[in-house]
Amino acid sequence: MSLTHYIAVVRKKRLPFWQQSKLLTIGNDLQSLPTEQLWQLHDELVRLLHTNKSEEKQTPRQEGQSSLFDLKLELVRRIYRACTLCPCLCQVDRLSGEVGRCGLAGNAWMFREGLLVSEEPFVIPTHEIFLSGCNMRCKFCQAWEGVVQTQVGIEFTTSRFAQLVEIRKRQGAVNVHFVGGEPTVNLLSILEGLRALEIDMPLVWNTNLFVTDEAMKLLDGIVDLFIADFKFSNDDCAKRVSGVKNYVATVQRNLVKASQVSSLVVRHLVMPEHIECCLEPVARWVAENLPNVTFHLMLNYVPEWKAWNEPNLCRRLTDTEKRKAREIVNAVGLKKVLTS
Ligand code: SF4
Repeated sequence: MSLTHYIAVVRKKRLPFWQQSKLLTIGNDLQSLPTEQLWQLHDELVRLLHTNKSEEKQTPRQEGQSSLFDLKLELVRRIYRACTLCPCLCQVDRLSGEVGRCGLAGNAWMFREGLLVSEEPFVIPTHEIFLSGCNMRCKFCQAWEGVVQTQVGIEFTTSRFAQLVEIRKRQGAVNVHFVGGEPTVNLLSILEGLRALEIDMPLVWNTNLFVTDEAMKLLDGIVDLFIADFKFSNDDCAKRVSGVKNYVATVQRNLVKASQVSSLVVRHLVMPEHIECCLEPVARWVAENLPNVTFHLMLNYVPEWKAWNEPNLCRRLTDTEKRKAREIVNAVGLKKVLTS
């Protein structure tokens, strides 16, 4: 879908997906239905959402009716009872206070928030909301203080979120932009916050995409622009640097899905000593599989957190490495490249 959908939403030519989902209605009492039936209904409505190129067939919700958005919320609540939002598959009951690898129970915390102008040109000025908790443990994590400890900053509540969105919108924000950590591990709080909002700004999801197929299905019809990291192109590097298994197949599957259902930008932060093993195959794969997607080559790696103890990660890129990275990206035939 390239950036077409996202740009149309910014220009007010289309409603954001998360608002379209509120207009697709169903009459059922969702809580009484078995989960399997909810998924069937969900998938049918998402298909309908994508075939409705305009919002013409959607009708305002009547009193007592549920929507696709409500259905997603109900499914997420059920998943939180035995969490499988990401491939860690912790199966903990987050609504009873149990925490999995991401360190989160039911509530979300904002460790940073503001209007930023230092991101990709088409997303700025952007209202970024950094939520704590992450399912990956990248040794170079630049947000580790808000990621490793989860109850930092202020608690994310529906009313606080609505106030902040209003303030940043008045200041010129063109979107609402969730960052982590990993926003997907906070999906329930985010959906609860969005449910009460009536604005028509696009939703940007700044994500590691290390999430399950079910989570991707729930994000389909909610997210208007994925800004997705593709960090490693082999599972050994992913395990060694970020502590996760089966990384490559999971992220490649989710990148393809994201490109089919929403707008997408792929980011790759070039790490020292990971140019041949990671950058080159990542860039080649994106060129071959996602030819219309914008690829953001990030040459601004700074060692943080545990990277200081790793011989290969404890320094910035050299000028030679940066030149090599640019050459690789040009050579593999990527059509749309941003560099920072
Ligand atoms: S989102 Fe958190 S609790 Fe759920 S499976 Fe992933 S790491 Fe575990």
